[in-house]
Amino acid sequence: MRRSGRPIRRRRTTVPARRDPFERARDASAAPATLHPYTSYPMATTERDLYEVLGVERGASDAEIKRAFRKLAQQWHPDVNTDPEAQERFKEINDAYQVLSDPQRRQRYDMFGRAGADNGAGNAGNAGFEGFSGFSDIFDAFFGGAAGGGNARRGRPQGGADLRYDLRISFEEAIKGTDKEIEFHVLDRCETCSGTGAKPGTDPTTCPQCDGRGEVRSVRQTMLGQMVNVSACPRCRGEGKIVETPCETCKGDGRTERKRNLRVTIPPGIDEGHQIRLTNEGELGPRGGPPGSLYVAVHVAPHPSLKRDGTELYYEAPISIAQAALGTRITVPTVDGDEEVEIKAGTQPDTEIRLRGKGAPHLRRSSRGDLHVLVDVQVPTKLSKKQRELLEAYAKDAGETVGGGGLREKLGL
Ligand SMILES: [Zn+2]
Ligand SMILES: [Zn+2]
Repeated sequence: MRRSGRPIRRRRTTVPARRDPFERARDASAAPATLHPYTSYPMATTERDLYEVLGVERGASDAEIKRAFRKLAQQWHPDVNTDPEAQERFKEINDAYQVLSDPQRRQRYDMFGRAGADNGAGNAGNAGFEGFSGFSDIFDAFFGGAAGGGNARRGRPQGGADLRYDLRISFEEAIKGTDKEIEFHVLDRCETCSGTGAKPGTDPTTCPQCDGRGEVRSVRQTMLGQMVNVSACPRCRGEGKIVETPCETCKGDGRTERKRNLRVTIPPGIDEGHQIRLTNEGELGPRGGPPGSLYVAVHVAPHPSLKRDGTELYYEAPISIAQAALGTRITVPTVDGDEEVEIKAGTQPDTEIRLRGKGAPHLRRSSRGDLHVLVDVQVPTKLSKKQRELLEAYAKDAGETVGGGGLREKLGL
C-alpha cells in the first residue's frame, strides 16, 4: 500500500517471511499485487450506496433524507407490501436511514464507506481498520481511489510490481550481519520520455471514456437491488490519461529494462526465510506510476556443526564414558571462534551446558541468545582386548555383573 506524503525511503525493515503477505512471491512475474487501487475494486462491487438506497443526492439535507426514508418505508414496509423482496428492501432502507440520519455516522460513511459507518459510534478515528494504515488506503479499498461526495479523485498511474531477489549468505554472516552488493534487472524510467510514455514534444491527453477519472461505473439490477460496479476504465487502464503518440524508445510504456546495483544491509540475527523490503526499489509503474518494492529473500547456508533455532544455537558434543566420568575439556566451535569448555567429572548423558550470549542476536535488540552444548555420552561399541579387560576390572571392582548375556558366551564360543 502506498500513500503520498509519508516517508517512503524506509529501508532495511526485516520481516519474518511467514508473517509477510508477500511471502508467496517467487519471482517478479509471480509477485502478488499490492493493493493497488486501479486494478480491481472488490469492495465497491457488493455494497450498495446508501444514498442510492434512499434515492437522494450525496449533499441531501437531513430533511430530504427523512422525507425520502418515510416515503420508501411506507412503500416497502412488509406489513403493506407483499412483494417477497419487501422485507429485505425495507431492512436496507432502514439501515441506510440509520446511518444517514446520524450526522457522525453519515460523516464517517462519506469518508470511509460502510465499514466506517458501522464502526463504533463516537469513534471518529480509524480504529478498527486493522490492515488499512491510513485514510487514503481506506478510500482506495472502498472507493477505488474516488472519495465520495462527487469529488472524485483523478486517475492515477498504476504502481509497479514488487520484485524478489534471493540472496544467499553464510551462517556467520546471518549472525553477525553483512553488506551485500546485489545486481538485478528492473523496469526503470525511460529516459527518452522521462517516464510519461509520450513522444518528446507531445503530452498524454485526458481519457475521453472516463473523462480522466480512471474508473467507470455500471449499475446492475439484482435480486438484492441495484449494484453499482466500479471498475478501472478499460481504455486508459485506470490512469485517466491516454498516450496518443507513444515514445519510440519504450513504445509508450514509460519504462525500459535496466541493470541496477544495490547495496543491501543484512542486519545481525537475520534468519533463513526472512525478507528485507526495500521500498521503491521494485519495478517502476508504467507511465510514471509509483515503483513497487524489492523483497530480498535471505537464504542462510547451514553450519557444519552448529544448528540454529531463532536466537539459540546448538552444538552436540560427543564425549566418551571415560571423559564423562573423569571430566575433560572440549573445543566448541562458536561464531566468535573456538571456545574451550570444561566437562566436569561425573557429567551425565544429555547434560546441557549453556554458553550465554554466544547465540544469534535478537533482531530488534542488542542482546544475543545462547549456545547450548548438548553432551552426547557415547558408549563404545568396539573394545580392544586391553579396554575390555580394564572395563571388566572396573565392573568387578564395582561389584557389577557384566557379560554373559550374549549367545556366543552361553554357547561357550
Ligand atoms: Zn519512453
Ligand atoms: Zn479512461
